Order: sequence, then structure tokens, then C-alpha cells
Amino acid sequence: DAMPTPASQHDQDRLLGGLLSSAVDEQSCRSRFELASYRRPSPFRPSPYLVDRLRRYEALHQRCGPSSPLFNDSVEHLRSGRNAARSECQYVVWTPFNGLGNRMLSLGSTFLYALLTDRVLLMHTPPELQGLFCEPFPGSSWTLPADFPITDFAGTFTMLSPTSYKNMRLAGNVSAETLPAYVFLDLIQSYTDAAFCEADQRVLAKFNWMVLKSDVYFAAMFFLMTAYERELARLFPEKEAVFHHVARYLFSPSDDVWDIVTGFYEAYLARADDRVGLQLRVFPEFPVPFENMYGLIVRCSEQYEGLLPEVAQNDSARSVGNHSSSTVAASGTGKKKVTSILVTSLLSDYYERIRGVYFTSTTATGEYVEVHQPSHDREQHTEARAHNQRALAEMYLLSFCDRIVTTAVSTFGYVAHGLAAVRPWVLLRPPSPDARADPACVRSETAEPCLQAPPRRLCGAAEGSDLGALAPHVRHCEDVYRGLKLS
Ligand code: GDP
Repeated sequence: DAMPTPASQHDQDRLLGGLLSSAVDEQSCRSRFELASYRRPSPFRPSPYLVDRLRRYEALHQRCGPSSPLFNDSVEHLRSGRNAARSECQYVVWTPFNGLGNRMLSLGSTFLYALLTDRVLLMHTPPELQGLFCEPFPGSSWTLPADFPITDFAGTFTMLSPTSYKNMRLAGNVSAETLPAYVFLDLIQSYTDAAFCEADQRVLAKFNWMVLKSDVYFAAMFFLMTAYERELARLFPEKEAVFHHVARYLFSPSDDVWDIVTGFYEAYLARADDRVGLQLRVFPEFPVPFENMYGLIVRCSEQYEGLLPEVAQNDSARSVGNHSSSTVAASGTGKKKVTSILVTSLLSDYYERIRGVYFTSTTATGEYVEVHQPSHDREQHTEARAHNQRALAEMYLLSFCDRIVTTAVSTFGYVAHGLAAVRPWVLLRPPSPDARADPACVRSETAEPCLQAPPRRLCGAAEGSDLGALAPHVRHCEDVYRGLKLS
């Protein structure tokens, strides 16, 4: 039949190969339509089946979402305190926990869970999360309405909550005749044990309302469950791109955040021939001292020649990289190549040191090097909206880079390389903050995030069996050995 016209090809690209619905109003969210022109083209195309499932999901969300008559009925049932017989609309209400990277991994996982179980995803949005993301679903909202009957999320949903699935199961309440109006699924770090047996999922499916709290990429667990095997194979023929597709679909920075992203990009990154992202995360609970962390960067760039621009041999003893090669020019222009290094960190020390190195030395290749850092907030302030907006903007800026160096264990880094579908170089965590990590870094095999704390054992599998060897597309992570990631 006819070739696609240039216009429709353009639309295809803007809408990420059909991942995004064309029914969204362009005025409502600029990043949704402009992102494609900042990003490197994705190496992965969404499967036609995924595209079809997303459109069906959007229809379900419109039918059952806030302000629909079916939603109002469901909220009445919730108020009644008892679970109704299986209703047409079932919901999973996501509630945030921990930092923004953790939140995005768990929110993406919750959306995949909603797709697999035909639930409608709603989001409890405390003030610090407002104004970060655009509404993802056309013609409806994912935000809980202000008059939603549950208000005290932080107080109600704790480890000890009697409505948590794990506690209900322990108390023997899950087989009762009348179930409570909702179930709380607690999937925080080491509590990921709770729910990944098929028998659990059968019970959970009875609840029309589920509240889910998690800070991990539990999406990886579904790939170990035979019940979802066929569906997941159709949705994601390429296992390396699960988070990539989900995140590109679900997350579009709000106009406010997008202004930060594009303002910084145009000012500091747009003219570079090559962009390298360097994400340096120092965890308060694992305080690697500056010299040790900086040493990782130096040794990593020696290990992977060309990862960072090399400093000329005779110039500096404190070189970031020191291999020599001939002068390079930006292709075809005759002008010297410019490499921009984007540093993201809560601290400014790394930026200052690296900038100092390139300021006082020429590069072995003759290229120019710029070093930029958008913000340095010193401490994590997840409760502050503007702080989160900067963090989100920096994740997107990192995701626009050609090469990305991340810090082991950081979910902030996972989101950046997952969005980009770039396999990162990961600065490894030393055995203790003062010890030497050897090697300093590894090139990751995939761009998928890591599920750092999988359940200790899986139902059906023998005690002590290796979860990383159970399914063909699941392996251990480079940065957290007992963790799991898809590939
Ligand atoms: P993780 O703790 O590294 O796994 O990542 P999270 O995103 O879950 O939590 C860390 C939080 O600290 C971020 O969400 C930010 O609030 C803040 N943060 C950490 N590193 C950076 C950074 O490089 N830039 C900015 N702007 N904020 C950061």
C-alpha cells in the first residue's frame, strides 16, 4: 500500500512509534511532543501488541477513572468498608516512598502490574510530587480526587497495618467470606516477599481496591511468574527495554520541569558534539570519601579508553584519562570537537575537580571540554517540590547524553539510563566506604534498572535456589550481586 507520508512518519517519531496516544492535547504538556527532538533515537521499538494494550488501557482508564460514574460507585463501595463482588473497575492506588528515583521505578512497576491485572492506576500525590509529571492518560486523570475517602496515607500504610496483605495472610484473614474494602500491598525493599506466588495473586485479584507502596523495581518479579509469561512475551519481546518503554510512556516532565531541562540544554549542551553524563551519588549511609570516589572516576576512564576526554600526557599528573591519540575535529566542519561533561551530584566537589583538570590541561585529542553541573543541593530533600523538579530535570538531561556513567546502587542513575536505553558505565561500590573497588567500574550489559532486593525465595522454587538462574531473561545485577535485572 502507500508509503507513509513524511507527516505521518514525523508523527510516528514524535509519538515514539505509537507508544504515545495521538489523542493528547499538545498544549497540555509540551515535553510530550518535544522530547523526541532532544533524545537520541531509541534502539527499541514498542511491539504492536504493547501499543494496542496501551490504547485499551487508556479506554479502561477513561471508563473507570476519576469523575466517571463507575468510579463514583467504586468509591461508595470503598466507603462501605467491604469489598464488593468483582466489579467492572478495579484499582491500584500507588503511594510514594523514598527518593524520586525509587518512586519512578515503583510507579513504573505499578503501571505494568495494572496492565497485567486489568487495574486502573491512580496516584496518591502529596504536594512535593505535584507539578512534576504531566497526566499520562488522555481524557482522564491518574490523580486521586481531593475527596477520596483515604487521606492519611503515611499513617495508615505501615509495616504493621492490619490491611497489609502479608499481615492479613499471617492472621489467616484472606480466606474469609467478607473481605475488607481494600488490600494494602507493601512492597518496600526487603518486604518484596509478600505477593509473588500465583496463589497470592489469585487472592489479591478479588480486591477491587488495592493500595500499593513500594520503592523498588518490582516489575522484574513478574518475569519469574509463569502466569504472566505469555502476556509479557507479547508485550515486551525485547526484555532489555521494559522500563524504557514503560517510563517513556508514563513519564513526561511537566511544563515547569521541561523549562528547566530545555533552558539548561540549550545553554550548555546543545552545541556539543559529544555529551557525557556523570552521575555521582554519595549515599549518607555509605559515605565514600571524595578521594576514593574521584579515584573511581579516574580509574574507570583509564579502564575504558575514550569514556572521558583524555588529557595530554605531559600536561597533568592528575589527569582524568591519559591515553594519547591524534587531534580530532568535529565531523566535516573543520572546527575542533567540543565535548560537554554533565555532572549531576548533590555535591559540587566533583564538578570543581574535573573542571579544574580540563581547565589547566589540554586534551590529548585537541578537543575542547566543557564541564557543567545544573544544581548542587547538598542534601536530599524529597519533601520539597522545587528540589524534586531539579532532580527530575537532571535525570532527563542525563538521559540525553551519548555516554552515561552512573554510581552503583543509585536508582536516580537507573532512571536516567533506562529512559535513554543507554548501557551505563557503573562506578562500583567498594566493600566499605574507605576500601578500593576493583575494578573501578563495569559497562552494564543492559539499560534496565536493577531490583536490588528480590524475595529471599520464590514459591515453587526450592529453598536456596538461585533466582538469577530461574528464568531465561533474568540475571543478577552488576552493581548489586543478589539483585535481579531483565535482559
Ligand atoms: P538514590 O537514593 O540514588 O537511589 O535515588 P533517589 O532518586 O531515590 O533519591 C535520591 C534523591 O536525592 C533524589 O531524588 C534527589 O532528590 C536527590 N539527589 C541525589 N542525587 C542528585 C543529583 O545528582 N541531582 C539532584 N538534583 N538531586 C539529587
